[in-house]
Amino acid sequence: MAAQRDWFEKDYYKTLGVEQAATAKEITKSYRKLARDLHPDKNPGDAVAEEKFKEVAAAYDVLGDDDKRKEYDEVRRLGPMSGMGGQGPGGFTFNVGDMGGAGGLGDLFGSMFGRGGQGRGRPPSGGVGPRRGADITAHLTVDFKDAIDGLTTTLYLTTDAQCSTCHGSGAKPGTSPTACAACGGRGVVDDNQGMFSFSSPCRVCGGSGVRIEDPCPTCSGSGVEKRQREVKTRLPAGVKDGQTIRLKGRGGPGRAGGPAGDLLVELTVTPHPRFARSGDNLTVTVPITFAEATLGSDIEVPTLDGSSVTLRIKAGTQTGSRHRVKGKGVPTKHGVGDLIVTVIVQVPTDLNDEQRAAVEQFAAASTANPRDAI
Ligand SMILES: [Zn+2]
Ligand SMILES: [Zn+2]
Repeated sequence: MAAQRDWFEKDYYKTLGVEQAATAKEITKSYRKLARDLHPDKNPGDAVAEEKFKEVAAAYDVLGDDDKRKEYDEVRRLGPMSGMGGQGPGGFTFNVGDMGGAGGLGDLFGSMFGRGGQGRGRPPSGGVGPRRGADITAHLTVDFKDAIDGLTTTLYLTTDAQCSTCHGSGAKPGTSPTACAACGGRGVVDDNQGMFSFSSPCRVCGGSGVRIEDPCPTCSGSGVEKRQREVKTRLPAGVKDGQTIRLKGRGGPGRAGGPAGDLLVELTVTPHPRFARSGDNLTVTVPITFAEATLGSDIEVPTLDGSSVTLRIKAGTQTGSRHRVKGKGVPTKHGVGDLIVTVIVQVPTDLNDEQRAAVEQFAAASTANPRDAI
């Protein structure tokens, strides 16, 4: 896998001295001749010839392979890197050249965020092939009511993004990274041992396939800089404290045509002074008087939306008993939960004379002992 960002800038057909429509045979023939002429054995101490020899080898590595050649033609057809800026989701600007960075950038991106890191689909060899972008974790604190109702909000993230100065190449503007000489820009080296051929990441370039002589001053050659990102999102109604919402494709950009990673939003829901949540139900505690509990009453119970509902308290209602108000709970995919009202009977204190007389009269008329059964 060659570094595609090189492909934008290098005309391999010209390097091999062939037409773009050249047949595979013509390409091989031209390469063999050039390789013979430029071979270091034939040009000892000639640095120019050596550089050309490497370029020819890198060019043939691509054009000499049908699949790679097709890919290269495709990349070249898309035009020069500077014209390829695209607006990604959430206003995150990235560049087509960004997708070509075999190795390097993806790793830096992922390591910024301990969690997630490299996504699924990363080949074990590392650094080569299409790679899914990194998953990014963000934290969001939402109001209790917003969590119940759902909320459209904007997340402000500072994440590693492609460097805007060098468009991710890591090279100083006006210069370009060259193919790593040790691996011919492939990022991996083959080690032939008898019948078997092993590939391992190139140690010279760390698997990136490129060499940067003049690093970009903005990113010091990493190709990555911190950038503010805004991600607009709609939280569904009924999200819970501690829940993680996965926003597909809103994470780090994919590499080499791989899909973007996800944005994982960890939610903290601030408690409400009056209401609490129990699954899909809301709970609230409401005081009632001794008389209301004893004689029965219709009482007003607050609901989360700021209005109230009437709850019928039957005669003889006990303190701590729970009463269900249908459909005033948490809206979810499978319907709306209920409001569970716990009533607490308030024992009156500081009685006035009239109240005291009434309770004394009540006591005198009572015969039952509540402790008989104990
Ligand atoms: Zn840069
Ligand atoms: Zn290398």
